[in-house]
Amino acid sequence: MFLKSIFLLPSPAMTKKVVLNLRSFRQKANRNRRSFRRFLTKLEKNLPRNADQLTPVLEKQVWKEVDCLNCANCCKQMSPTYTAADIRRISIHLNMTTDAFKTKWLYKDRSGDWMNKSTPCQFLDLKTNKCNIYDVRPADCAGFPHLSKRRLKDYMHVHKQNIEFCPATYKMVEKMMEIA
Ligand code: SF4
Ligand code: SF4
Repeated sequence: MFLKSIFLLPSPAMTKKVVLNLRSFRQKANRNRRSFRRFLTKLEKNLPRNADQLTPVLEKQVWKEVDCLNCANCCKQMSPTYTAADIRRISIHLNMTTDAFKTKWLYKDRSGDWMNKSTPCQFLDLKTNKCNIYDVRPADCAGFPHLSKRRLKDYMHVHKQNIEFCPATYKMVEKMMEIA
């Protein structure tokens, strides 16, 4: 695929609402994840000059098309990383000690991060796709999927992981491919 030295920024008219079918998303993401990752690797090596201007524009378009309440796939298939502040805040909210909270729901992974023991997340309401601790949820959940959190170059590895789980990330990369 040929990559231009700048992205041509898309017009708002290119967005439309889509109804998300999680099962077909998973099949599509599974089929296309290699080609999407290849695209991101090429992009990483030859990043258009205006890449960091582009991501907030694309992010706005993505959120007009994707509704997290139709999805919750991150809460169903992934675990947030809990910081010490998250654990304190949520434990207080649940009227538990931090130790009891950790013992009940978390484990420490190989890099020393606190993660959920199981999926779907214990705080997800599977009927509504809403988070039962929304106001005090981990910072990682509040910012996910971090589409334009950092410079694209520094976040490519996260997008590569998330394309198979997160329809919003998938859509953003798909939009980049359309204009590259
Ligand atoms: S804490 Fe809430 S937002 Fe975070 S993974 Fe669990 S259900 Fe989802
Ligand atoms: S952030 Fe991504 S995976 Fe999570 S609910 Fe929204 S679209 Fe789905």
